[in-house]
This record gives sequence, structure tokens and C-alpha cells, in this order.
Amino acid sequence: MVNCHCGKVAVVKTSWTNINPGRRFYSCPDVASDCPFVDWVDPPMCPRSVNIIPGLLRSLNNHRGQIQVLQEERARMKKQLYVSWAFVFMFVAYIVLT
Ligand SMILES: [Zn+2]
Repeated sequence: MVNCHCGKVAVVKTSWTNINPGRRFYSCPDVASDCPFVDWVDPPMCPRSVNIIPGLLRSLNNHRGQIQVLQEERARMKKQLYVSWAFVFMFVAYIVLT
């Protein structure tokens, strides 16, 4: 257990900067305080990881965005399919009943 400068139990956060991508660090749990406590949980990353991880994160976020767009398009097309089947059903009912 690690305490910050104001005596509270420090929380573990993850850095997503380009210099320390995915590297965990301790921080003061009180975000409103001026407590400057920061200490690393993980050792420094090797230069290859520092170069590769930001690109992988950008790629992952890009793919997540594409998935969101495709899910919205799928939902829209599903609605259109239901509406088209309703029209087909009404047309067949009209033919059968007249
Ligand atoms: Zn603190």
C-alpha cells in the first residue's frame, strides 16, 4: 500500500502519453487537491515498446470507431428491413383479401 503526500492511499492510474504508453503510476486519490504525489508502479518501458504501443493504440481506436459506424449502419438497415417486410406483408394481405 502506497500513501500520497497528504496521507491518503494512492490510486493506480495508467499513463497514455506517447512517452509512457500503458505505464501504471500511483497518484493522489483526491483529484481536487494540490497533492503533487506521483510515483511509477511499472519500470520504464523499452524504446521499442514506446515506439510501437502508441501506433497500436491509434489503430485500436480507429477500429473501434469503424465498429461503431458499422453497428449504427446495421441498426439502420435492420429498421429498413422491418419496414420493407411490413410493406410486403400488407401487399400480400391486400392481394389475398381483394
Ligand atoms: Zn494526496
